[in-house]
Amino acid sequence: MNWLSFEDVHVHYGEVAGLAGVSLEVERGEMVGIIGRNGAGKTTTLKAIAGIHQPSHGRIMFDNKRCDNCPPHEIVKRGIAYVPEGRRIFSALTVLENLKLGAYIHYRKRRKEFVAANLENLFEQFSILKDKRHQLAGTLSGGEQQLLAIARALMSVPTFLLLDEPSMGLAPKMVSQVFEVIRKLHSGGVTVLIVEQKAFLTLRMVDRAYVLVNGKIKLFGTGEELLEKKELKHAYLGRR
Ligand code: ATP
Repeated sequence: MNWLSFEDVHVHYGEVAGLAGVSLEVERGEMVGIIGRNGAGKTTTLKAIAGIHQPSHGRIMFDNKRCDNCPPHEIVKRGIAYVPEGRRIFSALTVLENLKLGAYIHYRKRRKEFVAANLENLFEQFSILKDKRHQLAGTLSGGEQQLLAIARALMSVPTFLLLDEPSMGLAPKMVSQVFEVIRKLHSGGVTVLIVEQKAFLTLRMVDRAYVLVNGKIKLFGTGEELLEKKELKHAYLGRR
């Protein structure tokens, strides 16, 4: 049984089709990638799951329930957290304040001790964030800000993590570190759906992937299968 599924999902921005009939599946415990050129519809796919955009047609199911008509806070409550493209951290707040914002669904239930324990747990995994917890988030390096964006999403204690181009704008060394963090989260049991332009690095990391072209799935398969497809580079990713 698929945990998350898209059934013929269309998303429109006025007249522009962001997604033009996408069907895809993610099983519990998988790490799945979505790759494609600029404007292919990768971000739109994640935003549709996160409840930021509503499909104009089709349906999205999560854990046996329809979720395409749920607002973003409801999606977070159901265990899905979204790490947006460009990180979107609050630069004028401290690292700690950013992290606490990620836990708002639990504060609303007055689960302060639960949040505190989760914060300690995260500080063990992300020691750089612990060291810099009283620093303004805008003063962190790009890589540290990406770690903060991931850690902030983890403060909601998700079972399903949506990552939108986590490597964007990072130096190669930092990309490896961020990917290592993602691998660890996945091996710790978090299901991951990752959107990336760094297609080849992504295909080496994920279990399976979908290639999006103009809002439609053109290819899918295991990372290994897709790496062997000659047409991948030229036709779908725009690389020589
Ligand atoms: P990138 O890698 O550049 O982020 P993407 O694959 O994530 O690209 P999307 O951002 O999902 O692509 O965009 C898919 C299509 O929808 C594109 O044609 C884009 O121009 C269009 N689109 C996205 N957001 C909007 C918007 N807010 N208003 C109008 N059109 C939009």
